[in-house]
Amino acid sequence: MKLNSGSSRRPMILILSAALVLVLVLALSPSSRQYQGTLQQAAFPAAGPPAVQEPSSSEEAEPPPEPEPAEPAPSFPYQELYPDLYCPDFTGESIPATQKTVYLTFDDGPSDRTAWILDILKKNDVKATFFVVGKNAAARGDLLRRIVEEGHTLAIHSNTHNYRQIYASVDSFLADFEAVYRLIEQETGVKPSIFRFPGGSINAYNAGIYPEIIAEMTRRGFRYYDWNVSAQDAAASISVLSVKQGIWRGGWERPEATVLMHEKWETATALDEIIYYYRSHDYTFAPLDNKVTPIIFDYKRCY
Ligand SMILES: [Zn+2]
Repeated sequence: MKLNSGSSRRPMILILSAALVLVLVLALSPSSRQYQGTLQQAAFPAAGPPAVQEPSSSEEAEPPPEPEPAEPAPSFPYQELYPDLYCPDFTGESIPATQKTVYLTFDDGPSDRTAWILDILKKNDVKATFFVVGKNAAARGDLLRRIVEEGHTLAIHSNTHNYRQIYASVDSFLADFEAVYRLIEQETGVKPSIFRFPGGSINAYNAGIYPEIIAEMTRRGFRYYDWNVSAQDAAASISVLSVKQGIWRGGWERPEATVLMHEKWETATALDEIIYYYRSHDYTFAPLDNKVTPIIFDYKRCY
């Protein structure tokens, strides 16, 4: 029985083996794979657009379609902030000085020395520029108004003068700037058009972000002013002599001098002599405005 049943099954096994080989050959042939792919695509169409067929080498390549006109570059979100915070009268025009000119500037006020400094300027018939700090100005609106009434330029320095805070982002800088801008406008009616960066336009706190802040402030029409002479009176340890030496180091030959000073007791004490120094070297005094070509630090200086 065993032999018989084995011999009767052998042809069946051979037939089945041949059929299996045939199925495998068909399944692995390229035309079959293509066919199965067609079937799969028909049964489960792809969600995206159909794949682009590469043109065969014998066909002429279609020229690419004309590109659509470029969309305007997307604006940065901070460009939408404070839609009124623009300098209304900026034209980009600069008027060159026709004579040796010195721009005396006082940072970080108003202070207990502001009235004293204003008295010295008035006595000498000198106009200057005050880059003020909002937190110092909040209770001294009278001094802000006196600066304006006596013909000086009231300009922005900062609201908080907190380097880490204002240079954390462009948004932070704008928030700080807008606060002191509004304060000045409310107290005096003046819309400031110029500013000075705390620490100067390039400093240890804004190295990664200053180009972006400068671009945004320039887009809004504000001009910033660094300096080319310093009384070097921001240090903790100064004297009347060291203030005057800082001025002397700046020399008397440059055609335009933008002088950095702070509202220190030593600086106010030296101010009469500083004015005499420039006057005796044929300088004219003028307040800054946005028609004055600014002294600005070279970007490369921080690298
Ligand atoms: Zn400052």
